[in-house]
Amino acid sequence: MTQKYEPVIGLEIHARLKSKTKMFCACSNNTWKSEPNEHTCPICMGFPGSLPTINKEAVYLGRKMGAALGCEIKKFSKFDRKSYFYPDLPLGFQTSQFDEPVCEHGNLQVIVSGEKKSFRINRLHLENDAGKSTHSAHNSLLDWNRAGSPLAEMVTEADFRSPTDVSAFLKEVQRILRLLDISDADMDKGMMRCDVNVSIRPFGQEKFGTKVEMKNMNSFRNIEKALEFEIDRQTKLCNAGKKDEIVQETRGFNPDTGKTFSQRSKEEAMDYRYFPEPDLPPLIITQEEIDALQKEIPELPSSKILRYLDAGIGIAEADALVNDKYVNAVFEFVSEKTEDMKITSNWVLGALSKYLNDNLEYSLVNFNPENLVILIQLIQNNKISNKIANQIFDEMISENKNPEEIVEAKGLAQESDTGAIEIICKEVLEEKSDLVEAYKSGKDKLFGAFVGQVMKKSKGKANPQVVNELLKKLLS
Ligand code: ADP
Ligand code: ZN
Ligand code: MG
Repeated sequence: MTQKYEPVIGLEIHARLKSKTKMFCACSNNTWKSEPNEHTCPICMGFPGSLPTINKEAVYLGRKMGAALGCEIKKFSKFDRKSYFYPDLPLGFQTSQFDEPVCEHGNLQVIVSGEKKSFRINRLHLENDAGKSTHSAHNSLLDWNRAGSPLAEMVTEADFRSPTDVSAFLKEVQRILRLLDISDADMDKGMMRCDVNVSIRPFGQEKFGTKVEMKNMNSFRNIEKALEFEIDRQTKLCNAGKKDEIVQETRGFNPDTGKTFSQRSKEEAMDYRYFPEPDLPPLIITQEEIDALQKEIPELPSSKILRYLDAGIGIAEADALVNDKYVNAVFEFVSEKTEDMKITSNWVLGALSKYLNDNLEYSLVNFNPENLVILIQLIQNNKISNKIANQIFDEMISENKNPEEIVEAKGLAQESDTGAIEIICKEVLEEKSDLVEAYKSGKDKLFGAFVGQVMKKSKGKANPQVVNELLKKLLS
């Protein structure tokens, strides 16, 4: 008999904070396009006698990340040395936080497949990054540009029950980091990295099973695939009565085979010999400063999405509306004034997004959202049809013109004058007398064709509602 098992997953996520300089020295933290070892100094290279200074901006960004993740910001916090040897760790230890992290006990709400879920965060601490080694057949090269860059590491509770939970959460964290300018959070550039811990347990059992850890995963897709493989592997072992063969270990993932493999077991686990960093003072923050920081956190994407869903917007659209902060700002501004989220969403995700895709040099910073308000109101008040609105959209945006003026100048205002429209309707019915016969003998579907002809003849200016009413009257 095969038993049903439930996956239990917890995450450790590193984010490179977007401060101008490194965590403990004045070297630039913007090293993405630099030559190797361009941004180094005695402090981040760990020369004897050099002394670190704490980067205020990095601490601020780390705390801001904690606040956005619903954490408690600790009034007292301190740095500790985490000692281990690694060729790209210049000081022989990492400056991290052990028992007094900057933030604790968070909670993030995420929409997973349209459903609201919430995941707890155990802690968030600050530390500095190591350098980067590149190995070839004959030598190893070391680049210390990244050494000393500020990282925030958050550790979640083991609250995830599926790979889908995990990817929804990671995408939400990435989105928040970008929206709040905390980190660029590009996984492929190592600016957001994730260690994934996974175990399984029989449904209904409270006690966790033995976990394995997959370190430094750098794409959402690989994380999902690795988890699927690992859950399957552990389930098969349990079902085969070989539960003991699941051991606490670090496993790697090979994207080519889609399989995980054993890297090192717990017996080889390191003793980091943590002790308080003697060269740095503790981090203290007052309640007033905490309150001020918390006020800086805007409404988060998941809460916006829920509002949009309530207004009848689809989940994919709601999601798209919060991805980019400028697009979202336009949407919020315009929908508040038009009082119609749905039609506003159609314009923002339709014509506006298309324009942005087709004109990559155009920046929304130059866009006057008031013009989109006016355009939508012109439609709402039956002054122009959707078709005309689409026709003038590009001119409105590229020349930053008031759409009302374009309509005026081009004589595009919608014709609601019944008399004028009735004349066109009659003309059409006369021209298409054969179709009128067919319609009257039961081909109801032809009605649409009459409407289309009238709209065409009026160059899209006739009010479709009026056309419909008049045609119905004339044909009855
Ligand atoms: P370690 O001491 O091995 O680093 P931690 O207790 O610090 O383990 O937890 C690291 C991460 O692993 C956390 O995200 C935690 O939620 C998760 N985790 C802990 N135990 C399990 C388990 N049995 N199964 C899955 N995840 C776990
Ligand atoms: Zn430096
Ligand atoms: Mg740990």
